[in-house]
Amino acid sequence: MRILLLGGTGEARALATRLHPDYDIVSSLAGRVPDPALPVGPVRIGGFGGVTGLRQWLGDNEIGAVVDATHPFAATMTAHAAQVCAEIDLPHLVLSRPAWDPAGAVLVDSDVEAAHVVADQHYSRVFLTTGRSGVRPFADSDAWFLIRVVTPPDADMLPVHHEVLLSRGPYGYDDEHTLLRDNRIDVLVTKNSGGLLTEAKLRAAADLGVAVVMIDRPPLPAGVDVVGTVEEAAAWVAGLEQ
Ligand code: NAP
Repeated sequence: MRILLLGGTGEARALATRLHPDYDIVSSLAGRVPDPALPVGPVRIGGFGGVTGLRQWLGDNEIGAVVDATHPFAATMTAHAAQVCAEIDLPHLVLSRPAWDPAGAVLVDSDVEAAHVVADQHYSRVFLTTGRSGVRPFADSDAWFLIRVVTPPDADMLPVHHEVLLSRGPYGYDDEHTLLRDNRIDVLVTKNSGGLLTEAKLRAAADLGVAVVMIDRPPLPAGVDVVGTVEEAAAWVAGLEQ
């Protein structure tokens, strides 16, 4: 049985390493990042062309099961996979890493709402870690932004006062503490991505008394099977009828 592994995350790469070559897997990346970290084993890159394209692709490639290990905020891909797998009765699992505890943070539902909080609270030095697509809502802000992204935002997305820091995690506590302190950050804006690779910024912010505005996760589609760890996902694959 061939298994489609929807990826773009460290967990997806770790799962590919666990499964390849014992299982017939193909990993899929969206193709957003020019030089992506590639999982082991076969990889395809690029969108499927919506629900219709995904349905066609799954049939053409004789896929017998789908593990969705995309980022918790990749809601469109997750919705498409859940819909198509339900329609064609394909075994389907979502690997969603546990969320961070939002205690102490201002919890919001969107990057637009986060931008309102930053404006309303008159924060002046913002550490923005919501990714390239999360920059635009802050474009009209007068605050200064340290914008950490993997791929540079377009010029028209950027607020007037900013510095772009191109980098890719993981990030350790000491470096995050230094970054927040040296840049005199007064608020951290983050998605509730969860996971250990980027959570040090939350501990550093707490220790420095930096406020946190956290964007809550989009809900998962109703009725999907969900696990939180690579180990559980590997066990689910092992339990499939091969
Ligand atoms: P999204 O909004 O849910 O997806 C938008 C479209 O991108 C999908 O409809 C699909 O295009 C395509 N796509 C997304 N993930 C894909 C995959 N793994 N393989 C093939 N096509 C994919 O997703 P996104 O938030 O833009 O994230 C894109 C990728 O970056 C994901 O793989 C995700 O794991 C990774 N990532 C996202 C974030 C984040 O904060 N959103 C952070 C880190 C990594 P079609 O409709 O044409 O099939």
